[in-house]
Amino acid sequence: MLKYGMELNEILASAEDLEALVIGRNALSGTAGYIEKYWPGCSVLIVADTNTWNAAGKRLYSLLKEDGAACEDPLIFDVPPYLHADYDNVLKVIKKAEESENPVLAAVGSGTINDLVKRASFETGRPYLCVGTAASMDGYCSSGAALSKNGRKQTMECPSPKVVIADTEILKSAPAKANAAGYGDLASKLTAGADWIIADFVGVDPIEEKVWNIIQPKLKGWLESPEAFASGDEEKLSGVFEGLNLSGLAMQILGRSRPAADSSRAASGAEHMFSHIWEMSGHLGADGNPVSHGFQVSLGIMCVTAMYELLFSMEAREIDIDFSVESYPDWETRAAEIEGNMKMLPSWEEYLGICRMKYVDRGRLRERLTAVKNGWDGLRIRIREQLPSYDEMKAMLNAAGCPVRPSDIDMDRTVAIAAYAKTQCMRNRYTVFDLAYDLGVFSKYIDEIDRSSRYLR
Ligand SMILES: [Zn+2]
Repeated sequence: MLKYGMELNEILASAEDLEALVIGRNALSGTAGYIEKYWPGCSVLIVADTNTWNAAGKRLYSLLKEDGAACEDPLIFDVPPYLHADYDNVLKVIKKAEESENPVLAAVGSGTINDLVKRASFETGRPYLCVGTAASMDGYCSSGAALSKNGRKQTMECPSPKVVIADTEILKSAPAKANAAGYGDLASKLTAGADWIIADFVGVDPIEEKVWNIIQPKLKGWLESPEAFASGDEEKLSGVFEGLNLSGLAMQILGRSRPAADSSRAASGAEHMFSHIWEMSGHLGADGNPVSHGFQVSLGIMCVTAMYELLFSMEAREIDIDFSVESYPDWETRAAEIEGNMKMLPSWEEYLGICRMKYVDRGRLRERLTAVKNGWDGLRIRIREQLPSYDEMKAMLNAAGCPVRPSDIDMDRTVAIAAYAKTQCMRNRYTVFDLAYDLGVFSKYIDEIDRSSRYLR
C-alpha cells in the first residue's frame, strides 16, 4: 500500500475531484465497496478495449457481480487496430451511457480509455471510476483529456476520476513497454523541476512549495532501481504509479491556487514540448503506430538534459551580458523566426501570441541576465542537485526500458534536433531553453548537440 499514507490524505483533501487513490495487491477486489460508497444505486458500465478487458475488465466484471453490484453490458473497443483518443469515440461512450438507466462509468485501461471516459463522464455529468491497467502515464488524475477533435489534438476540459484503483498484479502483467512509458513520464518531473527552478530564479514563475512537495522530495525514490521496475517488482511499480497519479494531482492543485497560470508547470517542462511537437507531426514508431506519450517524453528528457549539461558547463565569467542583449532580436525579427520555426504546424499563428507574452524588452532582459550572472553558481548547484547528468539519465532510462536516442523510436536524429527551436515557441512557460535563448547561446548549443558524437546517439 501507499508509503506516504498520511501525506496522501492531505493531498487528497486539497484535490477537488479525486476522493480515493488505491494501489496494492488485490486492490481490484475492493471496487464494489467504492461503488457502494460513492455511487449507491448505480449500475457499473465498464469501458475497456479488448486488451484491457482481458487484463482486468473481465475479472472486475465478475468480482462486481459476485459482490452483488449492478452491471451494464460492458463497452469494449476492438483492438487492433490502434484505439485513437478521438472525440468520435467519446461519443460512443456517451451513447452507451445514455442507453443505461443510472450508470457509473468505469474506465478500465490506461491513457486512451481513461481520456475517452473522462470526457464522456464530464459531458454526461457523472463522476467516474478508473481502474488503471498500466503505470504508463501521468494522465489518470489530471484534469483534462488529450483528444483529437476535427483532426486537431487538444486538451479538453474535464475533471479527474473520483476513484482510481490500481491492482499491482494487473500492473505487473501490463506490457513492459507500457510500464516503461510511465517511468519515462515520471522521470520527466526531474527536468520539469529543473525548469521550474530556473523560472523561479528569474522571477517569472515562483515555485509553490506545497505543490513542489507533492512530487519532488519523493521523486528520486520512486525512480530508483529502474532494473527492478523493469522486471516487474511490485513495490517499484506501485511507487511509479503513485508518483504518476500525484503528478496529476499536483497539476490540479496548482491550477486551483493559480487559475491564471499554466498549471502543467507542476509536472511538465520542455521535455513535454518535444512530445507535443512529434505528436503533431504524426510521427510513428517502427510498428506503424503512434509512439507512446511516455516514450516521446523520455527522448525529450534526453534532449533537454543535453542542453542543461552544455548550458551549465558555462562559468559565470563567461556570461557576457552585453553580447546577450546585443544578440536579442527586436520583435519583428523574433516574429519572423517564430514563423520559420512553426509555420508547418496547424494554426501556427497562435504561437506568435504565446511568444509575444514571453518576449521582454532589452532593459528587462539586461536586469534578468544580471541577476542570472550574479546568482549563477548557486543556480548551478540547485540544478545539479535536481538533475542527473546526461550519462546518468541515459543509464537510468535505458535500464527502465525507455528510449534514449531517436533511433529507439524510429526517428531520424535530424528530426529530433529540429524540434529544439520549435519547443521553445510552444508555451508561455519559461524553461532552460528560454534561459539559453536569453543568454544568446540557444542556437549555438543546438549546433553543438547536433555535431556531438555523444548526445542523442
Ligand atoms: Zn506526461
